Amino acid sequence: MSYVLLQDIKKIYHETTVLSGIDMEVNKGEFVTLLGPSGCGKSTILRILAGLTEATSGSVYIDGKDMRNVAPMIREIGMVFQSYALFPNMTVEDNVAFGLKMKKVPQSEVKERVDHILDVVHLTEKKAAYPNHLSGGQQQRVALARSLVVRPKVLLLDEPLSALDAQIRKRLQTDLRNIQREMEMTMILVTHDQEEAMAVSDHIFVMKTGEIAQRGTPIDIYTRPKSEFIARFIGNYNIILREQLEKLIGRHLGDDSGKFAIRPEAIHFSQTPSSYHIRAEAIDSTMHGNVIRTIFEAERIRFLCERLHHGTGTLQKGKIYDCFIEPEDVVGLK
Ligand code: ADP
Repeated sequence: MSYVLLQDIKKIYHETTVLSGIDMEVNKGEFVTLLGPSGCGKSTILRILAGLTEATSGSVYIDGKDMRNVAPMIREIGMVFQSYALFPNMTVEDNVAFGLKMKKVPQSEVKERVDHILDVVHLTEKKAAYPNHLSGGQQQRVALARSLVVRPKVLLLDEPLSALDAQIRKRLQTDLRNIQREMEMTMILVTHDQEEAMAVSDHIFVMKTGEIAQRGTPIDIYTRPKSEFIARFIGNYNIILREQLEKLIGRHLGDDSGKFAIRPEAIHFSQTPSSYHIRAEAIDSTMHGNVIRTIFEAERIRFLCERLHHGTGTLQKGKIYDCFIEPEDVVGLK
């Protein structure tokens, strides 16, 4: 049995179905992400796991044990939220030690464990500081340390990085992933940020209104979206109708899907023996730091192409280019 197992979890609030039969498995030591737009039920799943909300039906198992009637306090689950909720009148060290003291862990062990975890989250120097003297990123590190120090079986993270600015968020994503690997901690993250999910996860569960729309490794989800919803949600995919695509490439497609998804970076400019060929006009071309984003048009159909910028600048508007796509980069959608 998986370390964390949800079986057919349903949640209905006042006749509104918020979760309609969630099945989910997480292995021990894995980093799993629930990814989806706001309101699709991600936090509700975390709350059910933590025992803060009761499922209308279905079962939750953690470490082989049925969680029915098991109180939140004894589930051995940690939670980190977007708001850090630190004790403002306590130092970093005392904030982190709090959970261990509540558990009556001996003083010498408290010190050792707090010192170790502060080292893991790179906050040793801030040990004696108070939360209001720390940056947002540092406060979130304290919140993380406070949850990790009690060694929960599972750590649940509900949009923990959403309030931080982009640069700090990226740094913390990397740190979080490294800490998770180092401690072999089982973590379940909730986020609406695709890039974040791709950067940290072993497995991603993409949700759409109370259901899991697709599950898989980041590379699976990114390169093999099953539906238009996933293709649009996880990337800037070009979604092209079958007749349009056949017109563009001048060939019939074997796949019987009605729509196809093509990643903007899959469109390239050098031919291979298997490439589909499209002659298209560059309608607009803009530089976005390391990426050149070009909108092409052919047969009155527009598509987006993204290439890494190698110092060559944007493409020439109004010029006709030979564009190529490899058949394996054309993904049929349901
Ligand atoms: P997410 O985390 O994906 O943003 P949530 O799990 O917070 O979504 O919420 C899913 C849906 O459940 C939303 O439509 C929300 O309004 C509804 N919901 C959440 N909590 C309650 C509640 N206590 N009572 C009624 N509806 C709720």
